Order: sequence, then structure tokens, then C-alpha cells
Amino acid sequence: MVEICTTNTSLRLRYAVEQFFAPVQVHWCNRFEDLIRPDRAVFYQFPSEKGIQICTSSRNWTEHDFRYTEQPQDWKLNLLSSSFDIDVFEVVFYLLARVDEHAFAESDEHGRIQSKEFIQHQWGGLNCAYIDHLRSIWLKRLGIQDTFKSTQELTIDIDSAYAFLHKGMKRTLGGLAKDLLKGDVRNLLERVQTLLHLKEDRFDTYSYILTQANTHGWPCRFFFLLTDFGGQNIGLPYQSKGLKRLIASLEKEATVGIHPGYHEWNSAKNRTSIEIQRLAEIIDSPVLHSRQHFLRMQMPDTYRSLESLDIQKDYTMGMADEVGYRAGTSRTFRWYDYQQDRVSSLEIVPFWGMDSAIKRHKGWSIEEAKKEILQAKKAIDGIGDWRMVWHNETVCDEREWKGWRNVFEEQFK
Ligand SMILES: [Zn+2]
Repeated sequence: MVEICTTNTSLRLRYAVEQFFAPVQVHWCNRFEDLIRPDRAVFYQFPSEKGIQICTSSRNWTEHDFRYTEQPQDWKLNLLSSSFDIDVFEVVFYLLARVDEHAFAESDEHGRIQSKEFIQHQWGGLNCAYIDHLRSIWLKRLGIQDTFKSTQELTIDIDSAYAFLHKGMKRTLGGLAKDLLKGDVRNLLERVQTLLHLKEDRFDTYSYILTQANTHGWPCRFFFLLTDFGGQNIGLPYQSKGLKRLIASLEKEATVGIHPGYHEWNSAKNRTSIEIQRLAEIIDSPVLHSRQHFLRMQMPDTYRSLESLDIQKDYTMGMADEVGYRAGTSRTFRWYDYQQDRVSSLEIVPFWGMDSAIKRHKGWSIEEAKKEILQAKKAIDGIGDWRMVWHNETVCDEREWKGWRNVFEEQFK
């Protein structure tokens, strides 16, 4: 247990402190006499000769009406080594409440905020779970035993469940015609062989993924795209019997969540609600987990929508153009609605890196990607969780993803 002595009753402060130390419990006191171990207690805006005094910010950030209009420039580049000279709870609040995402609007062609906008970019980069390291440093300083248990799991997005199968007559014939017109003999042959069941569908990598998860004792999650076909939503028809069979069979061995489609922002909530309903009918139980297609989300609307649709955990917290920790942590945390000043019921589950970000945006070779994964995993060993985003397509070990199963398997080491 961590004891905090303060007369500050700010919800922001409570949120930051409790998320920071969780699962270690926090005992709040506003009088010195009520402390059980004053010599070990943390004093915040409360003068004391004993215990540990937390440096407090001049911004008075814990006032409800305080709004950041720019990124605080006094957090030093060497944040970890100067961790006792900063208002550590302010840093935690700033990162977890995703203040950057409210303050800055620079986004890419898909409406996603770019990683260079985040404050960590001005420190040592995003590839560091600053909060997890700070937490570890602070617990050691306080002499408190950590009760945190790391989670390692596989999370897989299913944009296109099969390359050729179960697409319906119209799209199957359309695909054949396209191969013929383009003179794409390789694709045509593969399509015909797959349709005749002479070859396995290239995207049918589910038994491989489950075998890997089972061999290493990792839980596994699949997020299914069940939106209407069109634009960036290139999934199978949600009515497809083959797709429904696949989802129902995976649900027996893994956790299944929704992968809300790529929509206009103003219709996103309604469309997501329909997609959740489709999945709930297939699995015959409520849908509790979600990750946005293209990691496309808008703060705070997307999270508010998910919360109102009874999603318990969202797995979108990562970057499409970079690896590392967008919210400064690898650990699950509660989402704080910064504009409404309230702690939401939605839990945010971060990931370190996505297959396409590694290969296309970082441009890493297979060997480079393996090295980076090992290093990143080692960096949070014992202090954080490990998750990546993979797709059923990218572990097929064929065509542009030839050899990438080696990278996928590197994370188990
Ligand atoms: Zn997707």
C-alpha cells in the first residue's frame, strides 16, 4: 500500500496516482496523524519533515478548469533520471489523459494523429514506457513491494478472413475476371486452386496462430471486421456462413472482439453499434472488446462512443507510423475524459507495435524487426505488458510477408 498525504481533492490527482501505482492500493490521508507509516508516506502539496515530498508543478494542474494550451516544456529530456525533480503525477496525468490528442490536431490522410505530435517525441522518443519505468523507480524508492503481474498476449486483426474463400458468388466471379483482365496468372492459379480446395486459403492462418499461442501459453484475441463492404472496408460479407463458422470456432479457443470499420466520423457510432450487434449474434454473447480498423480514432468521440456501446476494453492505443507507447505505458489503464473531467468505465489496453508499421513505415528488415522486438520486450520485462498487432494475412509466410513468421515468433523469446 502507498500512503499519500495531501489536502488536494482533485479528481485528476486521484486518477493519476491510483492508475500509476495500480494494482498497489493507495491510502489517501489529509492529516499527518492519520498516516500509518509517515516515514514512508508521499506528501503532495503538504509540507512535512518526514516521508517523501513530491515536487509540485507551478501549473496547478489539478484544478478542474485548468487546460493545457501547449505541451509543458519543463519536463526534461532525461525524464527518468530526474524523476524525483518533477511532478511525477502531473506527467502521468498528462500522458494517460492523452492531453496531446486534445491539444493538437495535425493528422494524416486517415484522420489519425501523427506520432511526432506526442510529447514523448521531444524526450527520448516514443519507444520507452516512461510511466512503467517511473512507477518502478518510485516503488523502489518507497520500499514497497510490487504486486503487478505482467501479461503477454497475441492480438490479431481480421480485416479479410480469407483471401479467396467465402466471398459470395458475385465477388468470387469478379475476382476471377480481374485476374484475367490483369493477366495475373499467379493470382488466378492460386484463386482457382483455393476455390477447388487443392490449396489452403492463403489468409487461413488461424490454426498456426492458435498453435503458437497454445505452445507458449499466451492468451489470444481476434478482432473481426464486420462492416459493409466498400472503401477501406474490404472484409468478407458479414452474412457469409464461412465467416460465421470461423468466428464461432475461434471463440471457443480465444477471445473475439469487434474491429469497427472505417467510417465517416459523424456516422461512426451508429455503424459501430450495428457491427457490434452482428458480432453479438454470431457469438451469442455481449461484445466487450474492440480495436479500431486502421487504428483510426478521434479523441474523445471514439472512446465516448465505445463506452456508451458497453465496450469494456479498447485495444487501439498504439501507432500506425511508429513503435512504442503512445500513452507512455504498456499497461492497461482507465480512460479519463479530459474535457468532461471524469474517469470513464472504458479500459485502454496499449500495444507496442503493429506489423505494417514495422515493415512499411519503419522499413525494417526481418533481422532488424527481430532485434527491435527483443529489445523492446526486454525493456519492459517485469514492469509492463507485451502486445503487438498482427493480422491473419501477415503471418501467411508468403509473397510480401515471406519470412515474417520468424518475426512473429520472435516475440515469444
Ligand atoms: Zn483493420
